[in-house]
Amino acid sequence: MSETIKTDVLIVGAGPVGLFAVFELGLLDIKAHLVDILDKVGGQCAELYPEKPIYDIPGIPYITGHGLTDALMQQIKPFGATFHLNEMVTSLEKTGNPGFRVTTDGGKIFECKCVVVAAGGGSFQPKRPPINGIEPYEEKSVFYAVRKMENFRGKRLVIVGGGDSALDWTLNLAPIAKHLTLLHRRSEFRAAPDSVNKMTALASEGKIDFVLGQVTGLEGANGQLTAANVKRNDGSTFHITCDAMLPFFGLTMKLGPVANWGLKLDEDLIPVNTADFETSERGIFAIGDINTYPGKLKLILCGFHEVALMSQKAHRYVYPDKKLTFQYTTSSSSLQKKLGVN
Ligand SMILES: Cc1cc2nc3c(=O)[nH]c(=O)nc-3n(C[C@H](O)[C@H](O)[C@H](O)COP(=O)(O)OP(=O)(O)OC[C@H]3O[C@@H](n4cnc5c(N)ncnc54)[C@H](O)[C@@H]3O)c2cc1C
Repeated sequence: MSETIKTDVLIVGAGPVGLFAVFELGLLDIKAHLVDILDKVGGQCAELYPEKPIYDIPGIPYITGHGLTDALMQQIKPFGATFHLNEMVTSLEKTGNPGFRVTTDGGKIFECKCVVVAAGGGSFQPKRPPINGIEPYEEKSVFYAVRKMENFRGKRLVIVGGGDSALDWTLNLAPIAKHLTLLHRRSEFRAAPDSVNKMTALASEGKIDFVLGQVTGLEGANGQLTAANVKRNDGSTFHITCDAMLPFFGLTMKLGPVANWGLKLDEDLIPVNTADFETSERGIFAIGDINTYPGKLKLILCGFHEVALMSQKAHRYVYPDKKLTFQYTTSSSSLQKKLGVN
């Protein structure tokens, strides 16, 4: 376990709404740390539609998911928030009124006055391939993400899938693996054409094997794979001797650990008070796609509105003795100073 990190506010989720929370909280001198399961910021915008255009962000006629994420990162820069990526917030414990201790699966512990749940549709979780008996191998020799490439050096690998992740990891791991087989059930790919061309070139140079087929079973003991049984599209079968398998079948969103934090839930969403977006627990707020209230729309612009009102209430908890005066960024020299523009 690492040292406890103290902060005013801990934001769970670095999607567009969690990112904008840094801005509105920052204007009120409230410091934030953000935790996200993904290895990048931007939530659904970055993970599900980075290249797709969004047309309904006020004042911005057209911006891609990736572009919006970049713009938000630039906008919140003056506030120096700290990001903890690749980590899932697992538990939340009450220590004051309000006051919380929050822990992640990476062993980080935060102590904060308020928690802002900006967890969107919940945690992105890998889709499990339909292979009987895969569970005992998971996280031992079957991995749904590559956290450290070095772990695969010198190994015999089977990568399964035909999307960007499968192709990208095939290209990245081919030079360090002892042997690599890419297995895909169709000859069409859902990946960047350039990656597909590079993969095909590696296969024709004999540097990797590419097989059209599906894994039908696994062999091994105590979680350690020794071989995968494969059925080719022509019906023939064979074994691939391997040390690890990496299936990339896409991601689904599940509520995940948020369900265990003692908050009142309504069908996997967190009901909030629309005056301040506080949940059933004093000092815990829910903003963006994760919350529900009469008339709720799962739109980024609605999340941004929620952030502004939430921040006003969070200020009361972080600075109970300070009076908050409403100010505009256009005319307040003190806000402009915080933004570094004055
Ligand atoms: C294909 C598509 C197109 C869309 N187009 C539009 C559009 O045109 N206009 C529009 O307004 N909206 C659009 N949306 C919806 C929009 O993307 C969402 O409203 C927005 O992403 C919600 O932002 P958020 O920050 O609340 O949640 P998310 O973007 O879902 O981010 C939540 C983050 O929380 C993280 N997280 C969850 N649980 C934990 C945990 N326990 N610990 C750590 N991290 C956690 C997740 O990993 C995720 O990164 C679209 C959505 C999709 C899928």
